[in-house]
Amino acid sequence: MDMVVRTNRAPNAGETLMGQAFALSPGGKGANQAVAAARLGAEVSMIGSVGKDTFGSEMLEIIKQEGIHIEHISVSETEATGVASIVIEEDGENRIIVVSGANMELSAEDIQMLAPVIQQAKLIVLQLEMDLAMTEQAVAIAHGYGIPIILNPAPARRLKDEMLSQVTYLTPNETEAGILAGMTVDSIETAEQAARILLQKGVKNVIVTLGAKGTLLVNAEGTKLVPGFPVKAIDTVAAGDSFNGALAQQLVSGKSLEEALRFANAVGALAVGKAGAIPSLPYLPEVENFIKH
Ligand code: ADP
Repeated sequence: MDMVVRTNRAPNAGETLMGQAFALSPGGKGANQAVAAARLGAEVSMIGSVGKDTFGSEMLEIIKQEGIHIEHISVSETEATGVASIVIEEDGENRIIVVSGANMELSAEDIQMLAPVIQQAKLIVLQLEMDLAMTEQAVAIAHGYGIPIILNPAPARRLKDEMLSQVTYLTPNETEAGILAGMTVDSIETAEQAARILLQKGVKNVIVTLGAKGTLLVNAEGTKLVPGFPVKAIDTVAAGDSFNGALAQQLVSGKSLEEALRFANAVGALAVGKAGAIPSLPYLPEVENFIKH
């Protein structure tokens, strides 16, 4: 659950200020990605964990209302629902503290018990806001069953080569690509270099998201820039998440990777054109209409 405070400026240490506005806003990368895919028509099951508190029951209700299966989201007896405390200054600068809470409770042993659920999936999507050992185990399970894996490596951190070698689609933004590859990424050329390093580690397809510029696909067949859709950016929150959810939905519905990326770029563009995380995620007719015009 995102707790968003708007203020003219952030307080200094020891200082108390009067802020301008406060809002609770459902979010979290996993939830955003699941809702993005569901709104585009995918059948989605979510695996995760919330606390036994009001944020937990609200998040479950919101996710359920999107038609997402929630029976594999566990409710922790001891940990609180994961939250992000977000302070946004007048000039748009933000400061974010994430407290993972129940998210970190789902363990490698827990996910092993859910292997039969993973086995039924056409594709799985993961990000890095949960326990890393659990996430590595989930990747290994899906890989063992030959199920395609989208790994959105956010928040950025270095990953073991063994995990990378099992990933079908790795979707870093430029910063994440740089951290994963151990270099600076600040252009299409450096994004391609980083992607090549990651391909050498065994990733099948590296998809670097480039904000308004779109995405760069690098795989054994070569490099392809899939251009973005120009929009007036209102709020870039959930751009990457909407992109990943859309990519998953498109691949499951049988689209080619390039078609899927073009569509996912359109979804990312629509998400930056609206405020908020989940409230900004588009439905299928809106995306089809946007691509046509
Ligand atoms: P993240 O939000 O994870 O940092 P990006 O900023 O690269 O990731 O955005 C993800 C995708 O969303 C991009 O590949 C693009 O398709 C779309 N997107 C992001 N920002 C814009 C923008 N300003 N205009 C159009 N599309 C955008």
